[in-house]
Amino acid sequence: MADPAECTIKVMCRFRPLNSSEVTRGDKYIPKFQGEDTIVIGGKPYMFDRVFQSSTTQEQVYNACAQKIVKDVLEGYNGTIFAYGQTSSGKTHTMEVSYFEIYLDKIRDLLDVSKTNLSVHEDKNRVPYVKGCTERFVCSPEEVMDTIDEGKSNRHVAVTNMNEHSSRSHSIFLINVKQENTQTEQKLSGKLYLVDLAGSEKVSKTGAEGAVLDEAKNINKSLSSLGNVISALAEGSAYIPYRDSKMTRILQDSLGGNCRTTIVICCSPSSYNEAETKSTLMFGQRAK
Ligand code: ADP
Ligand code: MG
Repeated sequence: MADPAECTIKVMCRFRPLNSSEVTRGDKYIPKFQGEDTIVIGGKPYMFDRVFQSSTTQEQVYNACAQKIVKDVLEGYNGTIFAYGQTSSGKTHTMEVSYFEIYLDKIRDLLDVSKTNLSVHEDKNRVPYVKGCTERFVCSPEEVMDTIDEGKSNRHVAVTNMNEHSSRSHSIFLINVKQENTQTEQKLSGKLYLVDLAGSEKVSKTGAEGAVLDEAKNINKSLSSLGNVISALAEGSAYIPYRDSKMTRILQDSLGGNCRTTIVICCSPSSYNEAETKSTLMFGQRAK
């Protein structure tokens, strides 16, 4: 594997606008933006590679977060873009795509709903992959978008409450780019993972029991193992605990090494969510 120092992890932070129920409740708009890279909450500054104010457009976010990674993937690198944050903070809005998903540590194929519990295997180069997951051959951006729409509608069909479900599962979209120059016979391949993570909010300790508590424990475990992997990469440590969760195992060859990783930390600007916003910002800081 390449020198970990080559690994570039970028952490961006995006605040959405106050929504109508927050406005109706009379919540305060709490973030104070300083320059392009600092956000101040309750007097405490948090620094990132970039901070996006609520008025930032989708195109501005794409240009700053995704454009470079997409270009590198076309040149043969692997990359991953994550959206992290509490439910309703703007993760799905930021990724625009929603495939397979991991729910209660089970991997479900979103392009073939009959495959509900796929397993992780390693290929001959010991690169982990999801065995039996549907692959589609696509040649144009339209075909990519059609595939995304199909995955989305499967996700909707399979669950009764989409909002609740999406806040408790990670959805992962993989784009494998293979290019071959017919004259030189040179081959180039790159992978891009788009990961819309489960909501990072704490489940209230008193209310949760049974299935809900199982879900909450699972989410906490997989998000904290992701946090551990990313901070180990950021520190350049020799041991990276990829094997601690299915998600980090699958993403292993697209995280660290010679890869490109961007985390978009998504936040609500409302005073009502201040505690969650602070803990979200802290997660982002650990990756720096
Ligand atoms: P999450 O995936 O984190 O649970 P969503 O992306 O579904 O949250 O966002 C919740 C709601 O807020 C959606 O209706 C979405 O359209 C809206 N929203 C999120 N981010 C923004 C933004 N930056 N600007 C305008 N609306 C947004
Ligand atoms: Mg979502």
